[in-house]
Amino acid sequence: MEENRKDEYEKICLMCRRPESRAGRMLEMGNDVCICHECLQKAVDSMKFSGISYNDFMNFMPDFSKGNGNAPENGDGGSNPKDEAKQEIVEGGSGSGSPDDPEKKDGKGNKGNRQGGIPTIGMINLSDILGGMGMGVPRQQIRKKKDKEKKPVKELDINNIPAPHKIKASLDEYVIGQEHAKKVISVAVYNHYKRIAAGADDVEIEKSNMLMLGPTGCGKTYLVKTMARLLDVPLAMADATSLTEAGYIGDDIESVISRLLTAADNDVERAEQGIVFIDEIDKIAKKRNANQRDVSGEAVQQGMLKLLEGSEVEVPVGAASKNAMVPMVTVNTQNILFICGGAFPGLEDIVKERLNKQASVGFLADLKDKYDDDPNLLSKVTVEDLRTFGMIPEFIGRLPIIFSLETLTKEMLVRILKEPRNAILKQYQKLLALDEVQLDIDEGALEAIAEKALEKKTGARALRSILEEFMLDIMYEIPKDDNIGRVTITREYIEHTGGPVISLRNVAALPGSH
Ligand code: ADP
Repeated sequence: MEENRKDEYEKICLMCRRPESRAGRMLEMGNDVCICHECLQKAVDSMKFSGISYNDFMNFMPDFSKGNGNAPENGDGGSNPKDEAKQEIVEGGSGSGSPDDPEKKDGKGNKGNRQGGIPTIGMINLSDILGGMGMGVPRQQIRKKKDKEKKPVKELDINNIPAPHKIKASLDEYVIGQEHAKKVISVAVYNHYKRIAAGADDVEIEKSNMLMLGPTGCGKTYLVKTMARLLDVPLAMADATSLTEAGYIGDDIESVISRLLTAADNDVERAEQGIVFIDEIDKIAKKRNANQRDVSGEAVQQGMLKLLEGSEVEVPVGAASKNAMVPMVTVNTQNILFICGGAFPGLEDIVKERLNKQASVGFLADLKDKYDDDPNLLSKVTVEDLRTFGMIPEFIGRLPIIFSLETLTKEMLVRILKEPRNAILKQYQKLLALDEVQLDIDEGALEAIAEKALEKKTGARALRSILEEFMLDIMYEIPKDDNIGRVTITREYIEHTGGPVISLRNVAALPGSH
């Protein structure tokens, strides 16, 4: 019980007031008084007049010097040997030798002849001094840990990655259509984690970073999010529009790794096997006719090269930006899977132009407008087209898997409304079921909603806002009347030519209705 209580709380540094999760490992001084590594160093620095160096001091306290002090730990060390050592010091420091292990200490509560230790120094119990000075022990030396830290972390077993067809089957439950994209991403992710499991030997398997093309609202982000959730790996999402070359206003490129570390609860090992999704990648295309330095375009592509390929990046722990007070850790991006996505407006014209040029030569000459109505021209994209668009060859070279998502059709939009596990319609049905009202929707109404969404040209994103508009009245009116048992949304209601069909409950079943 006491153990559980301890696990729920984290320590706070007496001097800088930062919790253990931010300041790193703490040194316990007894009576719940703790000091972080940094403050301790400052304190020792100020003791220079007595000729004690920081190293001497740390040698004297082996438990603390073993921990790197930089990486915050979750404070769930339990009863490891380090903790026992710490306990000894704390007890020795208070001068009240434990009766259980008299041979470990001398009578003065010192650790005696430690190697490299300072025999003349005894540990002082800070709380005693504070008490003696009339300051008392500060009350709030521990504080409750945030809830999310209590969640058990399911580790991805990279030796036991589900086969591609299983990954795709799981994706099918959430993502409608996009068969090709789901297949490509399942195989790429499977290979990626197999590559990590295999390790590096003479035949090094290349990293399978991906470039996803597709119109807005067709499910690019949704696909990656679902994949990361199914595999239970940390995912960081970033927007390429906010990235700039280091030193300019905007986010540094390395900030995406910092976000990944946060998504992995500051666990470097977990972050190193995570997924980074960079959206709107088309916005960092080389600016045409740019006279100034292209800090948010080509320079960002250049800056990302090392990251995509695999390099060691220094990132701050628990903070978005680097500064002197934030501890840094090194994250290796070698095994991080990078997925870039973008709508690439204008790329279709480039593809069409190339195809028309090819088609107008010789015997293969074709009709000039053959590709004008092709909704999935993006699937015919080549690396050449991307270069024409403004992506630099080195950048595309580091994203070997290029695939496109289809533009959503009316049929797909209808299915998205009702089929996925957490379909919008299912959510409304559940909401009304809480009021014991059944919600139905006609096929005609579903089609009408899909037609309206197609007009908006924002893909599946428009579906929710359209349905919400029509559900508002229903959800406002229904709770007024307890007799309503069922509501059916019709095409007429969506087209503003009628209302929803409302059926009353079985009247005989209503109390007082006989
Ligand atoms: P984008 O391609 O612009 O990144 P999103 O992935 O953000 O689009 O899609 C917006 C929303 O539309 C998602 O949250 C999801 O609910 C829905 N959606 C889009 N495409 C699909 C799909 N193929 N299957 C199911 N839901 C989808």
